[in-house]
Amino acid sequence: MRLLLVEDDPDLAALTRTDLVKAGFAVDVADNGIDAEHLGDYEPYDAVILDLGLPGRPGIEVLKSWRAKSNRVPVIVLTARDQWFERVDGFKAGADDYLGKPFHIEELIARLRALIHREHGRSANALETATVRLDEDLQQVQVANEPPHSLTGTEFRLLRYMMLNAGKILSKPHLSDHVYDQNSERDSNLIEVYVRRLREKIGAHRIVTKRGQGYVFNDPT
Ligand code: CA
Repeated sequence: MRLLLVEDDPDLAALTRTDLVKAGFAVDVADNGIDAEHLGDYEPYDAVILDLGLPGRPGIEVLKSWRAKSNRVPVIVLTARDQWFERVDGFKAGADDYLGKPFHIEELIARLRALIHREHGRSANALETATVRLDEDLQQVQVANEPPHSLTGTEFRLLRYMMLNAGKILSKPHLSDHVYDQNSERDSNLIEVYVRRLREKIGAHRIVTKRGQGYVFNDPT
């Protein structure tokens, strides 16, 4: 899952980014409304965290502009705690959720998860298919009643994305786009390496290669 964090307070942005990366998200940061709008137009984010008070262009205008261009990316707006009218404006502009500042990072992560799961037609709690259960807090995967395996950061991001998109063919460039932030080295051959490692942990037949197209996560009972 790749996020865009739009926040002009450099300390808050850095702190939040660190925590989101630890929670298994690839995160790009924009510190003004103009860069934010541009990134949201061109990069395939899974969700956006959008501060409203921004230099360059207000967050509300950025959001309205995305929605006017039919960009449906899930957006959580950050509002001032007591400013109920900011929340109303946010929803009117097309926000999916809001969080009042100051916030606890745990709440932001819980809201992001719920929003992303909902977007993929899943309930807000554990991410599981017929036999595979991904624990998003511990970043561990368990198959049936076997002992759980710990996952590295990239393995976790990749498996979560594939499980949320189970049954869909996902090309290597597409997976790179959702697993790495914009500053990472984007070598889609690396995806092959991580797929091989995941296959060792969850069983090779659960990630099917579609020659010339990509991979499909498939968990038959
Ligand atoms: Ca601000």
